[in-house]
Amino acid sequence: MKNLLEVKNLKTHFYTEDGIVPAVNGVDFNLKPGETLGIVGESGCGKSITSMSIMRLIPTPPGKIVGGEILFEDRDIVKMSEAEIRKIRGNDIAMIFQEPMTSLNPVFTIGSQIMEAIMLHQKMDKKAARGKCIEMLRLVGIPRADEVVDDYPHQFSGGMRQRAMIAMALSCNPKLLIADEPTTALDVTIQAQIIELMKELKEKLNTAIMLITHDLGVVAEMADHVIVMYAGRIVEDANVIDLFKDPKHPYTIGLMKSKPSLEGSAKRLDVIPGSVPNPLAMPEGCSFHPRCSHAMEVCKKQVPELTSIGGGRKVRCWLYNNEREVE
Ligand code: SF4
Ligand code: MG
Repeated sequence: MKNLLEVKNLKTHFYTEDGIVPAVNGVDFNLKPGETLGIVGESGCGKSITSMSIMRLIPTPPGKIVGGEILFEDRDIVKMSEAEIRKIRGNDIAMIFQEPMTSLNPVFTIGSQIMEAIMLHQKMDKKAARGKCIEMLRLVGIPRADEVVDDYPHQFSGGMRQRAMIAMALSCNPKLLIADEPTTALDVTIQAQIIELMKELKEKLNTAIMLITHDLGVVAEMADHVIVMYAGRIVEDANVIDLFKDPKHPYTIGLMKSKPSLEGSAKRLDVIPGSVPNPLAMPEGCSFHPRCSHAMEVCKKQVPELTSIGGGRKVRCWLYNNEREVE
């Protein structure tokens, strides 16, 4: 099957008063229709900046896509005009965020906001758009959809607002849905419901999903393939089963160890000693070396390449250097 999305050597930098922040520093991945890709890492690793680059929502200045390609159905998003990207955004590519209150406008009803999205991208009159809107609210499991369509966001609970966001995102039948921490702000029960819902919708609509999260539980539930990011780079790339069965990169292994217990209380990835490096003062060599118990001399000097180690897996770590495949 052809790739829907091909991200090639993407570089998105931020120009601050204190220096250049290489938030995304040469990222490559592909996504096929109907596939779910999990992007994991601690906050500040570049996963949200990657998704905002794909949506072309990087605030310029101070941010800028400085290199690489983002091919969506073979067309490079990086090179598109603002008018071209506007046709794609919210239509072929939709996004749901962590906190729906920031993306739903409090002064308009839920229904009018979803209808606006539908009318903007599909040739539908108001009546048809309202029908479609109610249908979408039903699809995401909102009870009494035909009544609550006229409610305002504050009249919805957090879980219902998140469902409404998903309804809005899916109302234009996007080929790609970018979900950035879609369940983080929700309690555990509602989280599970939203994950179930997204899985169902993916089956029904064959939407490709880019799932950005620090929650490995959500990734295990939903993703087919996973990339692990650290300090703006991919450090591991594997299918979900291999990754959980046999994580390779010391950082991935650390993330696995810090996986929250089933009780779901400890949500922070704070078991790995140290923290994400200051992006203005990246350590030389492997940027994980100050936190890595396996660090060798070479790690402090040279950045390891993202290397194929067989079985379709890739790792960026000097420990696997001798397993490098001849390509
Ligand atoms: Fe650790 Fe070296 Fe591998 Fe980096 S390259 S993760 S420092 S062993
Ligand atoms: Mg984020």
